[in-house]
Amino acid sequence: MAKTIYVDNAATTAMSDRAIAAMTPYLKQVYGNPSSLHTVGQIAKEALETAREKVARCINAKPAEIYFTSGGSEADNQAIRSAAYTALSRGKKHIISTAFEHHAVLHTLKKLESEGFEVTYLDVHSYGSVSAKEVEEAIRDDTGLVTIMYANNEIGSVLPIREIGEVCRRRKIFFHTDAVQAVGHIPVDVVKDNIDMLSASAHKFHGPKGVGFLYCRTGVPLKTFIEGGAQEKGRRAGTENIAGISAMAEALCEAVEKLDANMRKMSALRDRLIEGLSRIPHSKLNGMREERLPGNVNMCFEGIEGESLLLLLDAKGICASSGSACTSGSLDPSHVLLALGIPHEVAHGSLRLSLSEYNTPEEMDFIIEQVPKVVEYLRSISPVWEELEKGERPHLI
Ligand SMILES: *Cc1c(COP(=O)(O)O)cnc(C)c1O
Repeated sequence: MAKTIYVDNAATTAMSDRAIAAMTPYLKQVYGNPSSLHTVGQIAKEALETAREKVARCINAKPAEIYFTSGGSEADNQAIRSAAYTALSRGKKHIISTAFEHHAVLHTLKKLESEGFEVTYLDVHSYGSVSAKEVEEAIRDDTGLVTIMYANNEIGSVLPIREIGEVCRRRKIFFHTDAVQAVGHIPVDVVKDNIDMLSASAHKFHGPKGVGFLYCRTGVPLKTFIEGGAQEKGRRAGTENIAGISAMAEALCEAVEKLDANMRKMSALRDRLIEGLSRIPHSKLNGMREERLPGNVNMCFEGIEGESLLLLLDAKGICASSGSACTSGSLDPSHVLLALGIPHEVAHGSLRLSLSEYNTPEEMDFIIEQVPKVVEYLRSISPVWEELEKGERPHLI
């Protein structure tokens, strides 16, 4: 197989050398259980608390505000359920979110709706964002929680979290943000951003899979959903994944150290891709040109199926996605693209390219060379494209 070009970093990333090096001692030498009283256990306990300090420092939190989880999905579930039930005990059953959250958030909210909570899903408009004003206008007397993502995993839009957080703080409403795509990629400061609860995941910033964290601000109650031992101050039972947690802390420190340089590097690669691929006729960039993650490109090409595009690109060694990893495999178009008001037939022809610091300009040029060829080929065998070209149906983009 030819050399692969991996541009699916919003799905998961390769571990960095520093993260791997940070992990290995805890697999064999320092294998103790942090709950054990003997020396081997206590060394593991120290590693755990060091990792907690490092993670906290990277987002301007206090170590006691960091709870380790199995990843972003678990952190989202715990934060939302915890805040929702706490609010309910104070007589508030209304939740505000958006229509284009990750499924870890949306499915949790659906469950809560079936339990009697009421959820307002704010419109994200054709550009893929909501304003703090729109959030404020949706607040009711019984609103207890706002959960809005920091950055969207499919179209890369970065939301005005600081302003939304300010509204929630002023109106005394819990504010949770799914920051899985933001932490380690753009500056995140839980204090300045007025965040009560934040979810993050290691494998999205060159750490290992199966580990993440939940930030929960001092004074915000956090309920327990995994019962058992007293780990994580009784909020999340189970022997801690010391190797994974240590690697996550190192990966996050590395990402934060390199943040400015990587943002500059990746946005240059991103802009090169957008410029090159926008030359394809009847194509469209999804999401905003500004207020966009440095590594995200998401485009629609009319008259083709995204799945076919992915398979043909894969054959050329290009690993991309048509949207979120969770929806690929199903034939429904992405709920995110539909939330932007993109018609079904156009949303089917989507391509997401998500970059990392390991990508190169040469790789971008190869993609810019290959994608138009594949799109042209797929259009040449598409009955829909033939109808579009004959004018039997109108072009939508
Ligand atoms: C990947 C992702 C998640 C899920 O994180 P896991 O660690 O894979 O469970 C949640 N939210 C967003 C925005 C994501 O991109």
